[in-house]
Amino acid sequence: MTEHVDVVVIGAGGAGYPAAFLLDRAGRQVVMADPIGNLGGDCLAEGCIPSKAVREAALAYQRARTGVLSGARRSEVDGGDRPASSVWRAILEHKDRVQRLRYDQHRREIDASTVRFVAGSAHVISESEIEVTTASGAIERYRFEHLILATGSAPSRLPIPGAELAVTSHDLFRLGADLELPARPVIVGGGYIGMETATILEHLGAAPVVLEATDQVLPGFDEDLARFLERSLKGRVQLELGSAVTAIERRGGEFVVRYRQQAATSTDTGLQEGSVAGDLVIMATGRISVVPEGVEHLGIDLDRHGPVVDAGLRTTNPRVWAPGDVNGRSMLFHSAVRQSTVVAHNVLAGGAIADRMDFSTVPFTVFTDPELAGVGLTEVQARERYGDGSAVVVGTYDYAVDARAQIFGETEGWMKLVFDAHSACLLGAQVAGIDAAQLIAPLAIAVRERLSARALAEVAFPHPMVSEGIAKAAREVLV
Ligand code: ADP
Repeated sequence: MTEHVDVVVIGAGGAGYPAAFLLDRAGRQVVMADPIGNLGGDCLAEGCIPSKAVREAALAYQRARTGVLSGARRSEVDGGDRPASSVWRAILEHKDRVQRLRYDQHRREIDASTVRFVAGSAHVISESEIEVTTASGAIERYRFEHLILATGSAPSRLPIPGAELAVTSHDLFRLGADLELPARPVIVGGGYIGMETATILEHLGAAPVVLEATDQVLPGFDEDLARFLERSLKGRVQLELGSAVTAIERRGGEFVVRYRQQAATSTDTGLQEGSVAGDLVIMATGRISVVPEGVEHLGIDLDRHGPVVDAGLRTTNPRVWAPGDVNGRSMLFHSAVRQSTVVAHNVLAGGAIADRMDFSTVPFTVFTDPELAGVGLTEVQARERYGDGSAVVVGTYDYAVDARAQIFGETEGWMKLVFDAHSACLLGAQVAGIDAAQLIAPLAIAVRERLSARALAEVAFPHPMVSEGIAKAAREVLV
């Protein structure tokens, strides 16, 4: 039997559940399906939440060993002679606790709503129907007025021999993850997942090697931030840039990763073969969009990123919406949440585009140590967009003079605010160093609301916090 409902949401991650709850509260009949059987998607199952739980614990461990207290009470703060493996187990237990806590919280949210949540995998069977196969093998069929495709993304693997020998972020961070702490991990890919993992493992005493195909870490991110991270990691993480991995082999109890590297000298344009051995290979080569089986029945256009969407996140079928990772535009949980609310508003408007997604003001964060974050335009992008050099002014702030950075003993870092010289509106901001991910939130508001340097300079930011730097950098462009 097929049940007719207003909205079907496939996927209960950041792109799915905010819309489901919003539409439910507005009186729409909503069915939401996800095989995980709870909310949070990959972010909670194996992404942002567990990786940050591990990261913060590793950072606490590293700060106790090498931070401001390292000269005193050393044996107490570094855990005496506890082996790294027992610290690692405690960290994984902490991670599991955080995941369980959030799953319990989400369970209560599901119970408090009237959304019908189906634990199962959905596939499309016609232009207006889906079928969900539940864990027990039961089949439920729904006809919809609107369909929200929020099926997210999954880690991608390079199509190379031996790719199956590598683990992914899923194996490292899933609930109940039980990988041993590697001593010499080889990380394939220097994007944000690869770099975050490298600094976490380095804090726990590992000697990571990162193989990155392009000539900077964090390809696609602001070059200033990427170069700052590269410099800061010297002596901590071995970075092999311009290195395209070609194969992974097992040798005894170890793995050998083969790569082709651009020759170092400008006169030699050839490629050199190289290899590196390690006790774990982590594939961190990005994520790819996931669409449900039978998606072809919907008649929507797909490109290499995923479903093609307009500013209202509507696909080429006006009754089908595709917010979040699935559309490949910006694979970030907070972006997915905002996209989800955009879709809910448009569904409530009867399918008209009443709300639009502004991707240009979505901040990004990289939880390496040092931490990085940015929003809006970089100086280079602003100069390109506004033509001549005089149209852009930049205010900077150096962590070397910042009270909080000094208190933490972590004075490497900076903040950069990029303003339109004529209107003095903030166009973008980049932050490198402690608290970067927190600082980017007020800066994202400022970029989105096009606040002026004067407006930022006139805020009394709390002392002694790094946010004081926002007013100081803004004052720099007023004189
Ligand atoms: P986003 O941040 O865009 O929400 P996530 O990857 O975090 O992306 O979440 C996507 C969710 O979609 C995951 O929980 C996944 O289990 C779910 N999902 C993927 N394919 C299906 C499917 N065919 N049926 C139901 N749920 C699905």
